[in-house]
Amino acid sequence: MTSPVAETRELLEALGVPASRFSGGNRIVRTPLTGEIIGRVQDDTPESTTAAIGKAHAAFEAWRKVPGPQRGELVRLLGEELRAAKTELGRLVSLEVGKIVSEGLGEVQEMIDICDFATGLSRQLYGLTIATERGDHRMMEQWHPAGVVGVISAFNFPVAVWSWNAALAFVCGDSVVWKPSEKTPLTALAVEAIFDKAAKRFGGVPDGLMTVVLGAREVGAALVDDARVPVVSATGSTAMGRIVGERVARRFGKSILELGGNNASIVTPSADLDLALRAIAFAAMGTAGQRCTSLRRLIVHESVYDALVGKLRQVYATIKVGNPVATDALVGPLIDGQAYEGMQKALDEAKKAGGTVHGGARVAEAGPAEAYYVRPALVEMPEQKGPVVHETFAPILYVLKYGDFDEALALQNGVPQGLSSSIFATDMREVERFVSGQGSDCGIANVNMGPSGAEIGGAFGGEKETGGGRESGSDAWKAYMRRQTSAINYGRTLPLAQGVKFDV
Ligand code: NAD
Repeated sequence: MTSPVAETRELLEALGVPASRFSGGNRIVRTPLTGEIIGRVQDDTPESTTAAIGKAHAAFEAWRKVPGPQRGELVRLLGEELRAAKTELGRLVSLEVGKIVSEGLGEVQEMIDICDFATGLSRQLYGLTIATERGDHRMMEQWHPAGVVGVISAFNFPVAVWSWNAALAFVCGDSVVWKPSEKTPLTALAVEAIFDKAAKRFGGVPDGLMTVVLGAREVGAALVDDARVPVVSATGSTAMGRIVGERVARRFGKSILELGGNNASIVTPSADLDLALRAIAFAAMGTAGQRCTSLRRLIVHESVYDALVGKLRQVYATIKVGNPVATDALVGPLIDGQAYEGMQKALDEAKKAGGTVHGGARVAEAGPAEAYYVRPALVEMPEQKGPVVHETFAPILYVLKYGDFDEALALQNGVPQGLSSSIFATDMREVERFVSGQGSDCGIANVNMGPSGAEIGGAFGGEKETGGGRESGSDAWKAYMRRQTSAINYGRTLPLAQGVKFDV
């Protein structure tokens, strides 16, 4: 079997990334699969980031003149290049982040899907014609390109998040400067190379339309503080969003914030428990609990609690944990040692708060010392308090018992985060209440499925400390454009609005 070190190099070369980009730099990149070093990239500086923004601004001024459907053609070609590179890029995602192979591939499929969506959208950037109160007048609303879009992304979806933003931004007439997570620069370099192939085939793409800047928060901060970046789309923790959101607002820029979640599922007495069990297992343990939409709280009716939780404990005790690229394990590694410590700290706090912890220990035999594999933890809690109200980015599922439906809804909504949620029920009254305005307060509310794993067609994002941003489908594109209202007088008189008279 090829080692992750050799395979990463082969994949990067096959994807067209020059060796100088991933060797010899200051920043070490490790695979969470084994902890081995798989690359060394060179960080940008705030100064080189500022220069990249300057180039991106010039590119925007040229790109906005290209008609929308032609901009869509670039994104269509990008989708073609991604189709051609799917196997290699998907595998690279698995090597850099530790996802199971089908999830690495699924992430690239998501990129392809959003390219298809955005290509169609490029002919549908519709404005409005609005009834006007004045004779011989017309009023309209148009959407114009916004400018440079700064994309700051998290490690756990290292490439899909870029595409949700960039595919829309390009058809909207914007340029993009992307700062990926410092933990996942290699997949970003691969995407840059794939984009360059599409741009070459398109011909005449202005230099600087898409730039990757590498580094940690100080490089992100250069994007956040630059007034030439009217839109900053930032995906990551709530702690990051609090800083980024405030700084962008200080200069009256717009931010699209996609932050932490603390997602719950309610299991009611009418639930199909077999279906619920499978859905809960994927939502809580899939991606080793490192999805923003991972299931973290399970709110179970007392009448089905013992039956469901008993079966869940069996699944938790037996699910295969290990290297998901080399074996058929379904639970891969945590991203790093810091994530492991965060998990252990949360489990200690849960015990202090009266919780009963099943699982959660390091699975030493599954990987070398530098890799952090853990058995997912199921924690029965007497109350929703302590670590339950925070997001811990690891496979911990807190289980709570409820008696009546109002109580379940109050628990579901009783945390600061508002990303995703779900209900397992066949009682239509409970289902409808859950998705009504008095039900789940989250941006996503699913029925008879877990909270994780969204499709690109819907607007993605959440409320409260999740930041309020929406990306991907529906009308999320409007955040990447600026709205303009125009009133046009085609008559020979000058009627003023609201009947105001001002005859000079
Ligand atoms: P993180 O907050 O540590 O980092 C995210 C990105 O923000 C990185 O690129 C980082 O360098 C950058 N950053 C951090 N501080 C910054 C600052 N002050 N200024 C500018 N940039 C800064 O998050 P992570 O550990 O990479 O990812 C996990 C988190 O992301 C979880 O909280 C998860 O829920 C969240 N997430 C949310 C979504 C969503 O769509 N809501 C999607 C994926 C991940």
